[in-house]
Formats: sequence, C-alpha cells, structure tokens
Amino acid sequence: MHELSLVHALFDQADRAVLPHGPERVRRVEVAIGALAGVEVDLFRTAFEIARVERGYRSAELTIERVPAEHACSVCGARPLAGAPLACPCGGRVALTRGGDLILKRIELEVPDV
Ligand SMILES: [Zn+2]
Repeated sequence: MHELSLVHALFDQADRAVLPHGPERVRRVEVAIGALAGVEVDLFRTAFEIARVERGYRSAELTIERVPAEHACSVCGARPLAGAPLACPCGGRVALTRGGDLILKRIELEVPDV
C-alpha cells in the first residue's frame, strides 16, 4: 500500500517536529491532502491507524483536510476551467497551483505544566 509509506514519511516528519517531546504526547495530526496528490484518503486513514501505535503515536487523532485542485497560467495567472487544455490563450503554460500535495499542517501536543 502506497499510503502506508506516505504515513511513515509523515511520522518521520512529525518525529522531528515534536522534538524534544516524544510522539506519545501528540494528540492530533492534521494533514491536507490535495485532490491530485495521488492519495486515497480512506487508505491513508487506514494506514495511519496501522502505523500509529508502531510509531509511538498512541493518542494521536488524524484530521484530514481535502484540498481541491486549482490550476493557473504561470504567465498571466488566468484560471482555466476544469478539464481545460494545458496552454493558456496568452501562450503561457497552465500549471497546478494547489491540490497536488500531501502536507503536514499541524501537530497538537499535550505538554504537562512545569
Ligand atoms: Zn495566460
């Protein structure tokens, strides 16, 4: 499952982000998944559940924000309609500007008072 390796990559990133605290303090992991990121959201959720305990994120809940795909011309910034060709009338190239990534957005930690 491709999603399982994505989840492990996510935890690798999270491991570094939560230092000096450990993963056991993480209460929530928030990710944004683009419509064109090539990620199956249900499989991602399942993979998260599989990897969570193994990686030490026992109390972590997963929140997924789904990001729609958006394209824009790299020259004039025009936004073609969905299914539009990859070239803009101005001659510029139309590229994906949003919705192509899987992003770790936020990690919530529970840190005891000192
Ligand atoms: Zn253009």
